[in-house]
Amino acid sequence: MVIVFKPGASLESKNKIRANLEASGFQINEINGVNMTIFGIIGDTSVLDINQYRVDDSVEKVMRVQEPFKRANRMFHPEDSIVKVAGVPVGGNKLQVIAGPCSVESEEQVCQIAAAVKIGGASMLRGGAFKPRTSPYSFQGLKELGLDYLKAAREATGLPIVTEIMSADMIERYVEDVDLIQVGARNMQNFSLLKELGKIRKPILLKRGLSATIEEWIMSAEYIMAGGNENVILCERGIRTFEQYTRNTLDLSAIPAVKKLSHLPVIVDPSHAAGMWWMVEPLAKAAVAVGADGLIIEVHNNPECALCDGAQSLKPERFARLMGELKGIARIIGRDL
Ligand code: PEP
Ligand code: MN
Repeated sequence: MVIVFKPGASLESKNKIRANLEASGFQINEINGVNMTIFGIIGDTSVLDINQYRVDDSVEKVMRVQEPFKRANRMFHPEDSIVKVAGVPVGGNKLQVIAGPCSVESEEQVCQIAAAVKIGGASMLRGGAFKPRTSPYSFQGLKELGLDYLKAAREATGLPIVTEIMSADMIERYVEDVDLIQVGARNMQNFSLLKELGKIRKPILLKRGLSATIEEWIMSAEYIMAGGNENVILCERGIRTFEQYTRNTLDLSAIPAVKKLSHLPVIVDPSHAAGMWWMVEPLAKAAVAVGADGLIIEVHNNPECALCDGAQSLKPERFARLMGELKGIARIIGRDL
């Protein structure tokens, strides 16, 4: 972090800032120009509140040289992290595809879809039990019964299960029953939930918030990691922009950006980005081409009657065909699927 003082800043105000930083264990490298003084601050400045220094009257500007996140930062962890989900490695050379319905609707439905996506080549099963719906009158999920049905599908297929958590009071049950705990876009900045998830060691799938910047998203991962849970997988699912044609705008540039900034694995959800089933296929291919470590795709055996997100769900046959095509793209960029 660098503090640039205003021309003519008094020695007293500079010394006050120096004393404050030194008391917290930082070293100061002072550069005196003709008109201005600059402090280069040496130490882990991720813990400093940059705005605290900006309000000082003697300060012209304060700049960060390092990102405000540490545990998630590639600078301190140059090699890619591999997060294991019930033995399935996410973040290595092999791409992992999570597939399944938006919501668990019945035991039969989720077991049928699980069997179909397994044949198609999925390595994990998704399914919402607690659903974050925009309207309180929409289907809210089967809740704990949904978790039971997901477990039945796991038992039948051997696929690890991925499902969204909505509140901290369910953590114990999720640790017991779920293989990968999803934090949805709407809860990306639910900091009390993130802190509680930092206390466990189950892997967390952290979706990008509806209007979150890349830095805000990684800072949310940092919340979980700061508590000691380093098992975080990021998921780009599209962001709000002025465009109305798609449900969200898939930010493909976030994939190489996150890969540069962080060592964490990052996967892509083309379903919630597109909102339309026919766009899932090209977006999934693009995601693999730009270096995503995997995908999460909504698949339904009867999309016309789905209780949630049928319009963006692939039928199992299309999913299987897409998987075949993705294998070819993975091969070209030197990865396995
Ligand atoms: C979902 O995965 O079903 C979901 C609700 O996703 P998001 O949080 O990305 O909207
Ligand atoms: Mn959905």
